Amino acid sequence: MDFAFVSGNPALDLAGTVGSRRHEPLDLLASPADLERWIAACDELPDGVTADSTGFASALSLREAIYQLALDRVLGRPFEPAGLKTVNDMAAGPVPTIRLSDAGLHMSGDLHAALSQAARSGITVLADPHACLKECGRPGCTRIYLDRSRGTRRTWCGMDECGNRVKAAAYRARRRASATPEGRGPTRTA
Ligand SMILES: [Zn+2]
Repeated sequence: MDFAFVSGNPALDLAGTVGSRRHEPLDLLASPADLERWIAACDELPDGVTADSTGFASALSLREAIYQLALDRVLGRPFEPAGLKTVNDMAAGPVPTIRLSDAGLHMSGDLHAALSQAARSGITVLADPHACLKECGRPGCTRIYLDRSRGTRRTWCGMDECGNRVKAAAYRARRRASATPEGRGPTRTA
């Protein structure tokens, strides 16, 4: 399955690599290789990062801490202290190097730097009083995203991921409802 970068922030996208958290959690990061692919796919983190099992464990603990703190934010309650410690410790690490050229910005760094960068970007969004964090409106999705839309009227984490699925399900339900009386009629012989 492809990774989705729809949360508007790399730390929230990292938290979103576990879907359906309250029912049957689906974890897209099952191994260090998955983490390497995720970091490579994320535009705001360095390329070519390699992960060993220790670094992978750190990434998962950062991910769960970010999710916890984001959920605290969504629910309007104080941040959980253990989550704060994890994110703050991770953010204190070395940061990636950035370079400008005609090709644009190039970011480099190891896994430590990548996680530090993700933690910092998580802190920035979680500390912003104007950031509108929401949980996706599709029941069961549980992804938390930053709503930057005008009037903050966005309902889904992403249209492809959830919005279109909800709309398609509603359409099928309407069709079933309107087809039922006719379908049961005795004149239907086809
Ligand atoms: Zn969603």
